[in-house]
Amino acid sequence: MSKKQDNFGRAARACHRATGVQYNRCWEWAQTGRISRRLPVPDARSPEQRRFEALIAHTLTDPLRDGQLDGAVLGFQGALPDGDRLTLSLHPTMANVVVAALLPRFDAFYGGIRGVPGLRLERRHGAWALVDATSSAVVCLRHADPGWQPSLPGRDRGITRIWADAPTRLSRPEGDELAEWVSDGRTRPRAAARDLLFSRVLRRPLLINTAARSHGWANTYTHHTHDIVIEWCCGVPATDVADALRRSGMTAEREGVDSSPSGHREPHPERIDLGDASIVLRCLRASWCRGETGELGLAAVATEIRRRYE
Ligand SMILES: [Zn+2]
Repeated sequence: MSKKQDNFGRAARACHRATGVQYNRCWEWAQTGRISRRLPVPDARSPEQRRFEALIAHTLTDPLRDGQLDGAVLGFQGALPDGDRLTLSLHPTMANVVVAALLPRFDAFYGGIRGVPGLRLERRHGAWALVDATSSAVVCLRHADPGWQPSLPGRDRGITRIWADAPTRLSRPEGDELAEWVSDGRTRPRAAARDLLFSRVLRRPLLINTAARSHGWANTYTHHTHDIVIEWCCGVPATDVADALRRSGMTAEREGVDSSPSGHREPHPERIDLGDASIVLRCLRASWCRGETGELGLAAVATEIRRRYE
């Protein structure tokens, strides 16, 4: 095998492992230069698409928290990253919760917006799609049941359903929220690097999900607009997950995106940094999940979480 073919094979295997896209298709992408060893998973091309994907990844962390099933850390079990088009395979049981968490609504008790500002749900080419009211950004959804219809949240006290009330335009509170996401005060120039990093998280669901492989359990949250924390009970060390993500091009430079940090940051083996943004990975080395044997623990953890979806 020539060195070139060897590189194609490595890029294709890395892409297949990170996304679940068929190996033959990944090989084709490698041959046509769409992926490489340096960047085996295609990036979103436009800043608007990267921002939209980043908001989706970041927004899902808090509502999902420790409610993931079968180790689907952000609710997805596969990705088809095709240039600016991204298709995500939903965990079938988590699907309604994931969509509901993303639809923007004003929460009077919280005093702000929950969900992704500007996100709307539409039918596109016979499938459900998350579309951005401010740009052409779109994320298509795939469900194991082709006839799946999202069960949309009803009217609750104190909640204004922006996605239903303003189906085609951006409401003012959403505009304010988006302006904050883009500016974020002191780190203004680094928003592009943050969007690139978080959009890469969404495009590598299978690598992200390896974190929760041991008992299917993860906990996700965020401290601010520039971090995503993923922790899991036991099993694979955080450094291994971080290394695999780095090898998949998570921190690869991209033309037009300044990915240097605004101040000095000590690198950490369990943290992936780009610009001022971070993915923080943490294995808790817990024992509560193990039961008498690993298998018993796995079943018990899943049964407990599954109740929340009934
Ligand atoms: Zn465990």
